[in-house]
Amino acid sequence: MILEADIKAQLAQYLELMEGEVLIKVSAGNDDVSRDMMALVDELVSMSANIKVEKTELQRTPSFSVNRIGEDTGVTFAGIPLGHEFTSLVLALLQVSGRAPKVDQKVIDQVKGIKGEYHFESYISLSCHNCPDVVQALNVMSILNPGISHTMIDGAAFKEEVESKDIMAVPTVFLNGEEFGSGRMSLEEILAKIGSAPDASEFANKDPYDVLVVGGGPAGASAAIYAARKGIRTGIVAERFGGQIMDTLGIENFISVSRTEGPKLAASLEEHVKEYDIDVMNLQRAKSLEKKDFIEVELENGAVLKSKSVILSTGARWRNVGVPGEAEFKNKGVAYCPHCDGPLFTGKHVAVIGGGNSGVEAAIDLAGIVKHVTVLEFASELKADSVLQDRLNSLPNATVIKNAQTKEITGTDKVNGITYVDRETGEEHHVELQGVFVQIGLVPNTDWLGETLERTRMGEIVVDKHGATNIPGVFAAGDCTDSAYKQIIISMGSGATAALGAFDYLIRN
Ligand SMILES: Cc1cc2nc3c(=O)[nH]c(=O)nc-3n(C[C@H](O)[C@H](O)[C@H](O)COP(=O)(O)OP(=O)(O)OC[C@H]3O[C@@H](n4cnc5c(N)ncnc54)[C@H](O)[C@@H]3O)c2cc1C
Repeated sequence: MILEADIKAQLAQYLELMEGEVLIKVSAGNDDVSRDMMALVDELVSMSANIKVEKTELQRTPSFSVNRIGEDTGVTFAGIPLGHEFTSLVLALLQVSGRAPKVDQKVIDQVKGIKGEYHFESYISLSCHNCPDVVQALNVMSILNPGISHTMIDGAAFKEEVESKDIMAVPTVFLNGEEFGSGRMSLEEILAKIGSAPDASEFANKDPYDVLVVGGGPAGASAAIYAARKGIRTGIVAERFGGQIMDTLGIENFISVSRTEGPKLAASLEEHVKEYDIDVMNLQRAKSLEKKDFIEVELENGAVLKSKSVILSTGARWRNVGVPGEAEFKNKGVAYCPHCDGPLFTGKHVAVIGGGNSGVEAAIDLAGIVKHVTVLEFASELKADSVLQDRLNSLPNATVIKNAQTKEITGTDKVNGITYVDRETGEEHHVELQGVFVQIGLVPNTDWLGETLERTRMGEIVVDKHGATNIPGVFAAGDCTDSAYKQIIISMGSGATAALGAFDYLIRN
């Protein structure tokens, strides 16, 4: 039995929701992966009369496609979709059987309206928590539009293919044979990338808002809900709704919820925001802010949004190490998400730059997969909690180098080493390795504001206890501000403060 008893019991409940018959076409050989894949398919067939199976030959073996009877959908799984991809398989079965995907009708119509041929291939690892979103979005597109197909490829089952394409980060998506993108992407982001975004004119000439929130992470969502609950005209514009929690695996300190996952929390935030009369403008980036009669926020697409007050909640992003080689070899050995990309470095030598909590946690995590991990710390001591340091020091395949200033990440078509300077002796050293994970903290997303408002040396927006900035009517909240701590619950609290501050400002002005 390939599925454990409790998973099988859960699966049985899901399969009862199937609305029609599904034909699985299987391409199997005599190898171990094919045998396991067949065991999975046979188990599915034994659990639902709606699942039929047929042998065939697909582009990759082992693989199987999930189809409507008499009509191929283009949804194919190469390898075995267990681990994080098991949900993708279950959803594919349900959606191909006729169950509507949980996607806005507007987006469904957009996908159905796409003309042309789009053949997507996504390379994933079964331990990647960012991959299922991409796989599921591409599957939905394939199911809705006959011109679109998608094959999920488990990198572990197709190692040679992964190596020949130099894939060193997952998910990596190819479109019609050309590299299309890497990292987590929502359905809306994929649509925008293939040029099917809502028209920019949709955002122009909107009536002025009372409160316009810029940024759709925990701070922005909270600010928008608090503002809308005052019955005032509220808008929220976000480059990517959800923010950093979209890249967060386990969250155990969001008080009242003992454990959740980032994308799940982001989905709840979005749902909560949509319960109110809030104008949500997702996948739109603000590029400048200016105070005139109204406060004006210009978007990258050229539209100008006007508002009586604005709440900035643009959060933060991974800090780059900024040495030669980092940008050139991004996704070719330079990575930022150990949990996602770690499995692609199985048996290899990697470095982690940064000896804080995230760097040391990453090193411990990677040590279980890779041959050797070297931690490079700039300071004379690691900054991680001592319990993490003890754990790291106990590992036989981890080395810590302190006082190490990274000088260059070297490589040809992919990373082959790292050069650092010993800050005590001034000597230069080179370590041969295949991967570098950068874990040196975050930088606020405030560059786009230029000199318009007061920021700290680190670029954080300076706010008072009402969340007000130095420009009347402009408030800020969350990780983009000079708040002492950066956490989800703190961002949400400061979003609420800024919204109440903005409301107070509006009734006085
Ligand atoms: C890997 C990781 C794990 C973490 N784990 C935890 C944890 O377990 N518990 C915890 O409490 N915290 C955790 N955090 C921290 C937590 O995620 C942040 O404190 C929180 O997300 C900050 O929320 P925010 O809304 O201020 O910013 P963000 O979440 O960064 O959201 C910013 C928003 O602004 C948008 N944006 C940025 N620039 C623009 C622009 N120019 N125009 C329009 N929109 C823009 C972004 O797309 C996004 O929607 C973790 C962070 C990371 C990276």
